[in-house]
Amino acid sequence: MEYSKFLLESLAIYSVDLGIRYFACALIGFAVLWMTRRWIAGKRPVPRLPKSRQIRREIGYSLATTVLCGCIAPVIFVFGLGSNLNFYGEVSDYGWLYFGFSILLMMFLRDTMFYWEHRMMHTPKLYPRMHHVHHLSFKVSPLSGLSIHPFEAIIASVIPYTLILFLVPKHPTAYLIFVWADAAVAVITHLGYEMFPRGFARHWAGRWIGTATAHEAHHTKPGCNYGLYFLFWDRICGTIDPAYEDNYDVATSAEQRAHEEAAAMSA
Ligand SMILES: [Zn+2]
Ligand SMILES: [Zn+2]
Repeated sequence: MEYSKFLLESLAIYSVDLGIRYFACALIGFAVLWMTRRWIAGKRPVPRLPKSRQIRREIGYSLATTVLCGCIAPVIFVFGLGSNLNFYGEVSDYGWLYFGFSILLMMFLRDTMFYWEHRMMHTPKLYPRMHHVHHLSFKVSPLSGLSIHPFEAIIASVIPYTLILFLVPKHPTAYLIFVWADAAVAVITHLGYEMFPRGFARHWAGRWIGTATAHEAHHTKPGCNYGLYFLFWDRICGTIDPAYEDNYDVATSAEQRAHEEAAAMSA
């Protein structure tokens, strides 16, 4: 009885843990949309605030995803694998260089697993059974990121998180940075509003980084831009949207122009 109470408590704690990260980032995302909406009202049609029906649906699926991810800890406890999670205690054990590298490594592994899982989800058998749920958000919102079918949540989130926990030696703080970044990226890529600067998509480094413009294109014309954090795999495998850089220029120049006009008006 005590053991099952412990498992239920850990399920609740870890579900709420992810929920706080994700919904806090989504709340900031909505605030950004609201503010930019005021700044550029009348200048162009996006960003738009989603309809309440879409928000309700996305909250429901996102909550299911957070509870499923919360199951990772209890399952690890049930199998007695808690001591195999590859955390180390002192930063000096591996040094600061590895501390930073481990965060990038976790992001790279997460992105790689996501890219191939995402491509698999777009096959004719899996798309109508699972992935269409995510694409019900034809117009993205800050809550679209975790709005996925529960079976896809297991493949796209639960399994990658679990593998990273076991495979990558990491300091707890590095892991905390990674999971917050993961929640933030889920929101930023579904913002429908480009936060990166003008020219970023053509920059030697920026061209490898996933953006809101890249992922929004995936929602409006599936078949391109499958990546999450990065565009490595999309560029290597030829699934990058050929119009990506041009679309990015249009999105950022419109925003830049609106900001400049707003600044001129308030001066
Ligand atoms: Zn998709
Ligand atoms: Zn998406």
